Amino acid sequence: MAHPLSNRINSLPVSQTLAMAAKARELKAEGKDIISLSLGEPDFNTPDFIKDAAVEAINQDYNSYTPVDGYGELKEAICTKFKRDNNLSYKPSQIVVSTGAKQSIANVAQVLLNPGDEVLLPAPYWVSYSAIAILCEATFVEIPSSIETDFKITPEQLEASITRKTKMVFFNSPNNPSGTIYTEEEYRALAKVLEKHPQIYVLSDEIYEHINYNNPTFSFAAIENMFDRTITVNGLAKAFAMTGWRIGYIGAPEWIAKACTKMQGQITSGTNCIAQRAAITAVLAPVSKVQYMVDEFKSRRNIVLELLGDIEGFKLNIPDGAFYVFPDISYFFGKTIKGKHIKDANDFSLFLLEEANVASVTGAAFGAPNCIRLSYAASEAILREAIKRIGKALEA
Ligand code: GLU
Repeated sequence: MAHPLSNRINSLPVSQTLAMAAKARELKAEGKDIISLSLGEPDFNTPDFIKDAAVEAINQDYNSYTPVDGYGELKEAICTKFKRDNNLSYKPSQIVVSTGAKQSIANVAQVLLNPGDEVLLPAPYWVSYSAIAILCEATFVEIPSSIETDFKITPEQLEASITRKTKMVFFNSPNNPSGTIYTEEEYRALAKVLEKHPQIYVLSDEIYEHINYNNPTFSFAAIENMFDRTITVNGLAKAFAMTGWRIGYIGAPEWIAKACTKMQGQITSGTNCIAQRAAITAVLAPVSKVQYMVDEFKSRRNIVLELLGDIEGFKLNIPDGAFYVFPDISYFFGKTIKGKHIKDANDFSLFLLEEANVASVTGAAFGAPNCIRLSYAASEAILREAIKRIGKALEA
């Protein structure tokens, strides 16, 4: 008999990124030689200057509850960062620090969405956006794109997706999973459409901001008349190799920040005090201090693109940021390889796990059913081995 769980949890899909990482861990524990390219997690250590700040905080006896929305000093530091990197003038009262950018996004969705509201998700989109919308009993509406358009949507598509019920749109640049970056011009063209629909709020997830390989990224809230309806989400996990420290934050209109504080006051009481103290140091550090990781990601991206490009059936775009490749592998649909029939990206991802011992994530989880995601946040040797195995499994 089914357990009497709530409809809420029963309707929630499992996070495919975390599920695939867990599956890879399980198989490894059974003794299988699995290479996991499933999780988006830097393989670097947290830089020493940040670790030192955490140790100092412990020794200074930071152990009490923090203000629900974060230490004042950290919020000031985040304002400085927003001005320095994004040309955004937030006040500390517009900042809320949370337990990871994922909680920041969940807070914003919870305080803005009512059942039946529509949330526009330009696809491909990070797996948890749709799940968070489901938790709010909102309806998520995909705006499709493909590798042919470098996974970008057009203003016309945005316009066509808007209804009376549209309450929010989620932008994410650099994008997880495609690595695509919207230019200022492209963002301005999308903003033009939104100008006509003042009831729509924009969540701009900029967690991969510093992991970009060409030009600095552009913040959606920097568009003059979008500032008051945009929630800018960021965090420390990716650029500072601090995934487990769980620090995310928003800059938002004050009334939204206040509502998010009220929400997390009933859920977490605020974020870990030691991680917050360390975050002050991280946020204020010049970006040049973590450039060595970005340089390394770029060199790996180039290697991965070159090696995957040699495998027949892998269609690739050139991701300008983040640390994922998102090949279109629809070439393999309908084929039978090593006795296994591949009808879709789920089958293909499973095939790679079983026949190449390489864990990926199916594009279906990101609203892009022709693709799979491979994270290249792994050493060059591991990446070379993984792609060699993929090539070999598919040769058959
Ligand atoms: N954001 C990362 C990913 O997409 C971490 C896992 C998660 O929270 O989804 O792999």
